[in-house]
Amino acid sequence: MTAQAAIAENLHQVGRTITAAAEAVTRSPTEITLVAVSKMQPAEAVEAALAAGQCVFGENRVQEAQAKFTELKRRNPQIELHLIGPLQTNKAEEAVALFDVIEVLDRPKLAAALAKAMGKIGRRPRCYIQVNTGEEPQKAGVVPGEADAFIAACREDYGLPVEGLMCIPPHDEEPALHFALLRDIAARNGLKVLSMGMSGDFETAVRLGATHVRVGTAIFGARPPREG
Ligand SMILES: *Cc1c(COP(=O)(O)O)cnc(C)c1O
Repeated sequence: MTAQAAIAENLHQVGRTITAAAEAVTRSPTEITLVAVSKMQPAEAVEAALAAGQCVFGENRVQEAQAKFTELKRRNPQIELHLIGPLQTNKAEEAVALFDVIEVLDRPKLAAALAKAMGKIGRRPRCYIQVNTGEEPQKAGVVPGEADAFIAACREDYGLPVEGLMCIPPHDEEPALHFALLRDIAARNGLKVLSMGMSGDFETAVRLGATHVRVGTAIFGARPPREG
C-alpha cells in the first residue's frame, strides 16, 4: 500500500471508530470533528489526507505550520487549521494570521496579546482554553480551580471568541476522569466545544462528550524524530 493509500485507509478507520463510539452513547457522529494532527509530518502527508477528504488539521508550532499551510490554505480555503501547541506571546500575530482555531489559550498575557493581534489583523480565530486537568507543573493550561475566572476574563475583559476547552491528560492516569472534569467545567461555563482525546484515547473521549478529537499517529503513523 502506498503512503497515501495508508493515510486514506487510516482516516476511514478512525472515522468508523468515532462513529461507533458516538452511537454507543446515542450521540450523533456528526457532532464530532476529527482534527488530523500533522505536526512533524511532511507536506505530502497533509496533501494525502486532504485528497482523502480531511479538511481539519492540527499543528503545534507556528513556524512549522506556516511552512506547510500558508500556500496550501490559499489553494484550499476549506482547510481549518488548529493550533494545539504552546504559543508564545511574541508569536500571537503570526498565529492569528494563520490559524482558524487557537486551542491553547491559558494565561492573561496571552489573552491580551491575542486580543491585540486580532484587532490589528482583523481576523478572529476561535479560541479554546487549555485546562491542565492533571495540574502537572510541566504542562501548559490553566488549573481547574482557576478555570471559571479565566474563562470569564477572556470573554469579558479581553473580548475573545471563546468557544470551548481543551485538555491533555497525564500519560499515566485514567483519561476518563480528566475528560469528565473538562466536560463539567465546560457545562458550568456554557461552553459547547470540548477538544479532548488523542490516538490512544479518542474513543473514551467521544463517549464522554468530545466534540473535537486530535488524532495524529493513528492517521499518519509514527512521527519522524524532530531535528535539532
Ligand atoms: C501530538 C498531539 C496530538 C496527537 O497525538 P497522537 O497520539 O499522535 O494522536 C494531540 N494533541 C496534542 C496537543 C498534541 O500535541
